[in-house]
Amino acid sequence: MTGNTISDNGFALAIHGGAGTILRSKMTPEREAAYHAGLRRALDAGRIVLADGGTALDAVSAAVMALEDEPLFNAGRGAVYTSAGKQEMDAAVMDGRDRSAGAVAGICGPRNPVLAARAIMEHSAHVLLIGEGAMEFCRKRGLTFEEPSYFYTEQRWNALQETLAMRTSGVEDQDESRKHGTVGAVARDRHGNLAAATSTGGMTAKSPGRVGDSPVIGAGTWADNGTCAISATGHGEIFIRYAAAHEIASRMRYAGQSLEEASRAVVIDMLAPAGGSGGIVAVDRAGNVSLPFNCSGMYRGMVRGDGKPLTAIYDEPLVDYRNA
Ligand code: ASP
Repeated sequence: MTGNTISDNGFALAIHGGAGTILRSKMTPEREAAYHAGLRRALDAGRIVLADGGTALDAVSAAVMALEDEPLFNAGRGAVYTSAGKQEMDAAVMDGRDRSAGAVAGICGPRNPVLAARAIMEHSAHVLLIGEGAMEFCRKRGLTFEEPSYFYTEQRWNALQETLAMRTSGVEDQDESRKHGTVGAVARDRHGNLAAATSTGGMTAKSPGRVGDSPVIGAGTWADNGTCAISATGHGEIFIRYAAAHEIASRMRYAGQSLEEASRAVVIDMLAPAGGSGGIVAVDRAGNVSLPFNCSGMYRGMVRGDGKPLTAIYDEPLVDYRNA
């Protein structure tokens, strides 16, 4: 879906709460309303920053923090569990002004993994820190930590037990919501700068130590003022192998494709046939927004300076859910 180009000092924000949506048959009106409300809170958090003339970087950080705090989504509080029954979170942030980037993988402790990624970007000489070294860095930076009980949700714990039981009995899991999820945001601020942020618990019952695409710059996260900002969600291994986010930027840079053309070519024509179910949210310098996905749904939303926050879950138009 493409929006109209915005004015020079306009802004645009797009978010996702993961491509692993609940099957329509299991969705209730109450659950649906809760997802729309969660997306809306994140849009509001980012919109306030952008409306005040704040940076795209601050806006995507604020939006992703709100999504991490919301237990419905697989990031921060409510992250999925590894096969060993632990939570290992990954996150990344990238600033399109100079391609500075920070990322973290395999952590559980910092309340907001996106802030850990941002601290690495702004206060270390590195791009990606993992595990205990990353945790130590976050402690030294004074980030807020939480106990495992804070991150726990019964829904994710049950999803792990069900997934492990299915694995033992050799049953294929068709329910994407059991496996997937991630949160992310991309923004274009009033100054024309782009930024992206992504945060995830990864995939349910993943091997301990597995890292997905979200913290891999160029795979699940990308921002470059010359092309676009991207945050992805989906089967991380495939997104890494296809350097999905960077592939979209390259098509814009070298093949002259529009944001929409490049995004659809990668998500629909490249990732889907390769088994890379999922989607992306993207914005370009002109404020065009693209939100393609190749599976049954993607929790998503967008807002522009002159418009209302709009959200959607399945293959359906974005709506102002409060008034829907
Ligand atoms: N991309 C995430 C990962 O592979 C999971 C997801 O978005 O569903 O870790």
